[in-house]
Amino acid sequence: MRYGKLEGDYKCLQAVELVDQNPIGRSSRSNPATYLKAFDDIRDLFAAQPLAKKRLFAPGYFSFNVQGGRCETCQGEGTIKVEMQFMADLFLECDQCHGKRFKEEVLEIKYRDKNIADVLEMTIDEALEFFSADMGDSCVKRLCAKLQVLQDVGLGYLHLGQSSSSLSGGEAQRVKLAYFLCRGNAEEKGHTLFIFDEPTTGLHFHDIRKLQIAFDALIARGHTVLVIEHQLDVVKLADWIIDVGPEGGAAGGNIVFEGVPEELIKVKESYTGRFLKEKLALPSAGLPKGKTSAKAKAKKKQ
Ligand SMILES: [Zn+2]
Repeated sequence: MRYGKLEGDYKCLQAVELVDQNPIGRSSRSNPATYLKAFDDIRDLFAAQPLAKKRLFAPGYFSFNVQGGRCETCQGEGTIKVEMQFMADLFLECDQCHGKRFKEEVLEIKYRDKNIADVLEMTIDEALEFFSADMGDSCVKRLCAKLQVLQDVGLGYLHLGQSSSSLSGGEAQRVKLAYFLCRGNAEEKGHTLFIFDEPTTGLHFHDIRKLQIAFDALIARGHTVLVIEHQLDVVKLADWIIDVGPEGGAAGGNIVFEGVPEELIKVKESYTGRFLKEKLALPSAGLPKGKTSAKAKAKKKQ
């Protein structure tokens, strides 16, 4: 990247993270639970059950990534790939484990009447309800904290064992966000600048709202969020806007305005300002309280 100079109080930042919509893992073995290390907690929990201890099954035995407890016929995939000439590959359910991915001796280990395959089939919402009945267990408590974050960013409908390769770009982006939210606040992990490049691309309005909630959660943990965006519902929520233009392409690239949204709408040469003015004039239903009152004040000034 070319720039003349970099100035400001940037040394207060400990890290910079780009959160994009690229897949979180190409392997069919990666899923939201493995990405957030929630699967580690689930494996620890199953290994701690009396029958698992008796059979000397370590947590690794409950992994479908390594040899041990997984079904070796499908190597823990649950499906067998059949290569077809001139056609897309075909995936058939493994007839050894019937898609359960584990050996029978592992499936016999149960936690509150569910085995590891049952748990992987649960949605995040279902898993949260199932496990939260046992918050006295430290392992379950750790697991629930991660599941809660996934639910908070609007991914409660995903299955724990759902392959990452099946996630949309918007879903992958929110799983990454959930990962950072799980890591803790700025005091513990260092002040991070999160950069999002057009994060609302391809998102439904309802999902944009969830993304905004996740932004607020990062900010509440003491981090900074920088968003490159055209979507005015996101733009209007910014504390500070840098409007680049005035036109697109070669006629753009200059800073037209820098400041709060309420000031930007007064700038006649800003296209963003013009359209933002209409947005701000609308009732801001469903916005966080602090923001709503700020907008109300701005409206009175006009
Ligand atoms: Zn199998």
